[in-house]
Amino acid sequence: MASIGYGPAPPVSPTLAAPPATTATFRYLVQTFGCQMNAHDSDRMGGVLRAAGGVAVECADDADLVVFNTCSVREKAEQKLRSEVGKLAPLKRARPDLVIAVAGCVAQQEGEALLARIRHIDLVVGPDNVAELPALVMEQLGGAPPTARTVFDTAAPRFLAWAPAESAPAPVAALVTTMKGCDERCSFCIVPYTRGPERYRPAREILDEIRRFVDAGSREVLLLGQTVDSFRDDALPPPEEDALDREMSREAPADATQFPHLLRAIAREVPGLARLRYTSPHPRHASASLARAHAELDVLARHVHLPVQSGSDRVLRRMIRRYTRAEYVARAERLKRARSGLTLSTDIIVGFPGETEDDFAQTLSLVREIGFVSLFGFKYSPRPQTPALRLGDDVPEATKAERLARLFEVAEELGAANLQGLVGTKQEVLVEGASKSEKGDLSRDRVQGRTARSEIVHIAAPGAGRLVGQVVGVEIVQAHRHSLAGQLTSPLPAPPLPVPVPARRPDGEARRLPVW
Ligand code: SF4
Repeated sequence: MASIGYGPAPPVSPTLAAPPATTATFRYLVQTFGCQMNAHDSDRMGGVLRAAGGVAVECADDADLVVFNTCSVREKAEQKLRSEVGKLAPLKRARPDLVIAVAGCVAQQEGEALLARIRHIDLVVGPDNVAELPALVMEQLGGAPPTARTVFDTAAPRFLAWAPAESAPAPVAALVTTMKGCDERCSFCIVPYTRGPERYRPAREILDEIRRFVDAGSREVLLLGQTVDSFRDDALPPPEEDALDREMSREAPADATQFPHLLRAIAREVPGLARLRYTSPHPRHASASLARAHAELDVLARHVHLPVQSGSDRVLRRMIRRYTRAEYVARAERLKRARSGLTLSTDIIVGFPGETEDDFAQTLSLVREIGFVSLFGFKYSPRPQTPALRLGDDVPEATKAERLARLFEVAEELGAANLQGLVGTKQEVLVEGASKSEKGDLSRDRVQGRTARSEIVHIAAPGAGRLVGQVVGVEIVQAHRHSLAGQLTSPLPAPPLPVPVPARRPDGEARRLPVW
C-alpha cells in the first residue's frame, strides 16, 4: 500500500485555531459533564485558553471565567448542569465581573434561549466555536452584553490540536480526534443536532498529532469520533470493497470508509506507538477491511467497543440503526475471528418506546451470544428534536429500571467469567499511573494499567511507580470484581542513576563541570 509520505510534524497543527498569545492573564475553571469526548474537548478548551494567557484554577471562587462544558445526550447530565450553574448565582451577584460560559451540546441545543432562561450566564459557545472563546471572554471582561455563538463550521471545519501544558507531562494514553458530527439519524440521539454533520480531520494532521504525542512520551492513542469508522480522506488509498459487506448491507450499505487505511498509516508511520484504540465505531462500517486491519496490525488493541443498542430487529428498526441483529452478529464475529482473543463491549438502551418483554429478552440473548466482556446500559430518555419523540415514552420507569438491573446482572456474570478466565495467564500491561485507590500517589508502589484487551490490572511491587509508561509482562494472580491483580514476570529495571548535583564552592557559586 502506498505511503502517504508526510513530512516532519510541525510543532503545532495548522488547524490549531487558538488565538495568538496575548499578555492578558485571566484565571479560568472548566467543569466537564458527560462522556470521554467531552473531557477531551475540555482539554483542548484549556489549551486554547492557556494560549490566550489563561491560567487554570481549581475553584470557581478564584476564577475570572467559569466554563461548563455540557452534554445533552442523557437527560441526567443536562439536569446536573442546570443545578451546577444555579449554584454560581450567589457568586455572580457578589462578583458581577465573573464570566460564566456554557459550552458543548447544551449550548448548541439551546443557544440564545439559555441566556434568557438562566440570567447569570454571560456566554453560550457551541462545540465548533471553542476557538473563539478567548476573544468572546475578552469582550465579556470588557463589559459586552451576554452573547451566544453556536455556528457549525461545515464550510471550513476546524480541529483543535493538542497543546502541551508546561505543568503537565504528555498523557500515557492520549486522545486524538479524527472526525466530528454524525450523519446517522438514530431516532433516540440528539448528537446530529448538537454536533452537526460529519466532518473529517485530514489524515496528515491526525498523524502529526500522534507523532507529537509519542515524541512527548505518550504510548497509547485512542482515536475519537462519533462514528469513528466512517472516516474518509482523499489522501488515503480508496476504500476496499467486499462482496460480503455488500451482501449483508442491501438495505443500507456502508458508505465508502477509509478508516482501515488510516489505522494502517498510523501503524506504519508512527512506529513508536505501543497501542492504538478507537471509539466508537458504528456497526454499519465494521467492514471486512476493518477486520483485516485487526488481523494485520499488532499495534491495534484486541478489544473493540461496538455499540449495538438492542438485540431485537423490531427495536433496531425503530431506532433507525440501519443493521439487523444478524448483520451485527456477523460483523462482530468477523472481528473476533480476525484476531485471537479479541473481545467486544457495547452500549445498550433499555425501555426504548414500544420495547416489549420479548424485545428485551432478545437483547439479553444477544449479550450472551456475543459474550460482551462489559457494557454501558442506559434507560431510554426522550431528547429534544429527536425522531423518537413521536413514538412516545410508553415503557414505565419501573420496567426500565427492572430491565436495566437484569441487563447488568448478565453483564456482571459475563464480565466476571472473562476476568476469572485470565487468572494464571501472562499479559502485556501498559502501565498508566498510580492505582485509583492511591489517588495519584506513585510513591506507594501500587500502579495500574491495561492489558491489550483493555482489562485493568493492578500491580504492587517496590518501585512500581517507575513503570509508568512502560509495557510490562505480568502474570494475572487474582480477579477482582472489575479488575485484575498481576505480578511482574521479570524484575523491575534498576532505577536511573542519580543526576549529579553540582558541588557548591564555599563562596556559594556553582562549580563549572568540564564539558567533553
Ligand atoms: S451513530 Fe447514532 S447514536 Fe451514534 S452519534 Fe450518530 S446518531 Fe447518535
